[in-house]
Amino acid sequence: MLDVRDLRVEFRTRDGVARAVNGVSWAVDAGETLAVLGESGSGKSVTAQAVMGILDVPPGRITGGEVLFKGRDLLRMKEDERRRIRGAEMAMIFQDALSSLNPVVPVGDQLGEMFVVHRGMSRKDARARAVELMDRVRIPAARQRVGDYPHQFSGGMRQRIMIAMALALEPALIIADEPTTALDVTVQAQVMDLLAELRREYRMGLVLITHDLGVVADVADRIAVMYAGRIVESAPVHDLYRAPAHPYTRGLLDSIPRLDRKGHALHAIKGLPPNLMDIPPGCAFHPRCPAARDVCRTDVPPPHPVDEHRGSACHFWRECLHD
Ligand code: SF4
Ligand code: MG
Repeated sequence: MLDVRDLRVEFRTRDGVARAVNGVSWAVDAGETLAVLGESGSGKSVTAQAVMGILDVPPGRITGGEVLFKGRDLLRMKEDERRRIRGAEMAMIFQDALSSLNPVVPVGDQLGEMFVVHRGMSRKDARARAVELMDRVRIPAARQRVGDYPHQFSGGMRQRIMIAMALALEPALIIADEPTTALDVTVQAQVMDLLAELRREYRMGLVLITHDLGVVADVADRIAVMYAGRIVESAPVHDLYRAPAHPYTRGLLDSIPRLDRKGHALHAIKGLPPNLMDIPPGCAFHPRCPAARDVCRTDVPPPHPVDEHRGSACHFWRECLHD
């Protein structure tokens, strides 16, 4: 359904060119959940913003690639058509509901507005649909709360409202960028469960962008791991958990607490993600990689097919896989 191919994005700053996305490819099918995983600065949000066409601020520029939605390239479409697809067929959920919602408009009106603008409904019918949606995302006493303002809801409830906004027009695809990161842990799990349940029910595709490998295990079908603007590993979630084929993925797995790995020390990956204005030559991960050798400092590892469903951009993926 959505096929991102060799996407490239730069940011021009006073200090130089930041190469934020350097040839990223991933695809998500109808009804599938893809997790895009990476540390901050890995290019995962920028990729999503390029896909959604909201990359204007700061001065980002798409310098290459294709974003095929149902076979047609969004990057080369007429603006009005692109806007229609991005409004009705693809929706986005952000981390921070408070800054995405209008603080001075009751949430019911913001939800209702979707139906007024895109479906030509009357205000009264739109408000009824807003209540239905608030019910659907399990906001207690939706009918009584439809006139409340965003600040009158808790963080978790606001994030449910964002989900309701995204669902309103029943899009084919939702892109959720760190949708639960601002919430505390128990609320995170509830919101993630709700999102997974609604995705199934509406048979949508979901792209879940996160820095937290812990939240994706139960909801994602596939994972694409990003580092320095590239996909370093892509695999079905269970394969990746069972045996990562990239040292970076292995590092991420080793740094989350797991019951089945009792006795193993928790290692965080040493060092910091690279400056995107000065990405290390060869494999961008080499300064932090425990398995790095000479070739890693000079040759960019191409994406190697590990099997039919997996890929790894590591020269030594075989050793990693069998380690
Ligand atoms: Fe490590 Fe080399 Fe593989 Fe990069 S290519 S992840 S530096 S072993
Ligand atoms: Mg981000």
